[in-house]
This record gives sequence, structure tokens and C-alpha cells, in this order.
Amino acid sequence: MEKELNNKDCRLYGSPYCAVLNQKSCKDCRISKLGAADQLKAAEDILYIAEALPEDGLEGIMNSTGCALCRTKGREGEEANAAVQYAQMDMGHLHPTAKVGEKLSGSYDRGTAMTVPVQLPVCESCRKKIGKKSYLPLALGCIIAAAGLALVSLEPVRSALTKYGRIIPFLVFLIFVFVGIIVESLVKRSIGKKNERTVNSRAKRISAIAPLLERGWFAIGELNDGMPFIFTKKKLDSGILTGENQRELLNEIRSAGKAGIDELSRR
Ligand SMILES: [Zn+2]
Repeated sequence: MEKELNNKDCRLYGSPYCAVLNQKSCKDCRISKLGAADQLKAAEDILYIAEALPEDGLEGIMNSTGCALCRTKGREGEEANAAVQYAQMDMGHLHPTAKVGEKLSGSYDRGTAMTVPVQLPVCESCRKKIGKKSYLPLALGCIIAAAGLALVSLEPVRSALTKYGRIIPFLVFLIFVFVGIIVESLVKRSIGKKNERTVNSRAKRISAIAPLLERGWFAIGELNDGMPFIFTKKKLDSGILTGENQRELLNEIRSAGKAGIDELSRR
């Protein structure tokens, strides 16, 4: 689809700052709707992001052909599977204007963090393994609880149990629920352990994002058992650092520096 970037009143119009945002139209762009002062602040944030990123931005990570999650390190002759889709995650970086001593909370705070979407190419097998861990344990737990409910609802069972007290059928159902919860956590742990050997679901283990981690970026929303990835068949088609030519655009922004922002303010 043809891009509709037509808001000539926007301070970022026609600039590399706008190009990095990779928006389809000014109507969809949050920055296009801001006042001039805030647009300049946004351009400054883009400069900070450019300075904090590797030379080619996120393009190298996004366009790599091998799965970023296959765990093959240390095993000779093993290569990552071919990637067929994307695992989306967000990464943040302390904002340079944050006060000294302000701690990274690992969550997004507009005042202290800058965030970028990181798209990891992944294979079908890694996606399935991560997916299995997120739905199978819960499904098993629910099936056990539902089986308990079905059992105590059977008339002969209920009347037999009620002889020992009217509350007994309910207590039996509760036992099924507890067993379901225990099974859920055991199965989750066991799948997690098995996955650990073949899938890198923790940010620190994903070598594709190591250059970001080295530069002070952190994974947003990481849980004890790994990243909460969102899997997509296609790349994001709009948004900051989702487009091509990132190296050229970011270099242009970096070399213009603060003077580039001043230039926007004089437009
Ligand atoms: Zn893989």
C-alpha cells in the first residue's frame, strides 16, 4: 500500500526521524498529532534510541534467516532451524534524561525508558515448544477439575457421598481442583526443563539480542520461565524500527546529532 505521509505541519515531515518510525500514514502516527514542542522531544528520543542501538539498528536481527531461539551452542555440527515466523518482544533502555539513581524496573515507564519492538525470526519447532508450555499444563489442570465436577454430579456417586455429610461431594470436587493445580505446575515445570535443553526462551540466552543487552537494553516483561513472546507469521508492517535501510537512516540521525533536532525546530 502506498504510504500517506502528508502532514507537512509535522516537525518530522520528510525527515529520517519520520522514516525510522515507518508509519503508513500520518493519520495513524501518534507523533504527527502532537504539538510542535512534543514532536521535537520525540525526535530527540529517536536520536537517543539511534545512539543506543547497534550500527544497523534492529534490521540485522529481524532479517536473519536462522531461528533465534534454537539452542545449538556448544553442540558441533548443529545449526539453527530455518526461521518461518517471528517472535515479538519489547526491549527497553534507560532514558538518558532519567535522574541518576533511578532504577530500571524491567517494565515500561515513559519517563525513564525508551522501548523498541524486537522481531526474532523463529522456527516452527521452537514456537510449538513454547506454545505447548503455555497451554498444555493449564488445559490438563482444567480437564482434571472438570472430571471431578462431572464425577460428583453423577447421581449414584453424589448420593453415596452425601451419606457422609452434605458437604462431602463439594469437598471431593475441591480435591480434584487441588490435584489439577498440582498437575498443572508439575507439567509446566517438566515441559520447561525439557524445553531448556533445546529452546532459548530467556532473554540472556538469546544470542541475537546480545548486542542490545551489552548496550544496556533490557527485555520487558520477562517472567521466571522466559519471555512472553507473541508469535506472528509476518513482520510488523509499521512502527519504529520495523522498516528497511535502518543503518543509513540511523547513521544520518546520529551524525546530525543535536544540531539535527535544532534544525527541525527552525522549520
Ligand atoms: Zn528454533
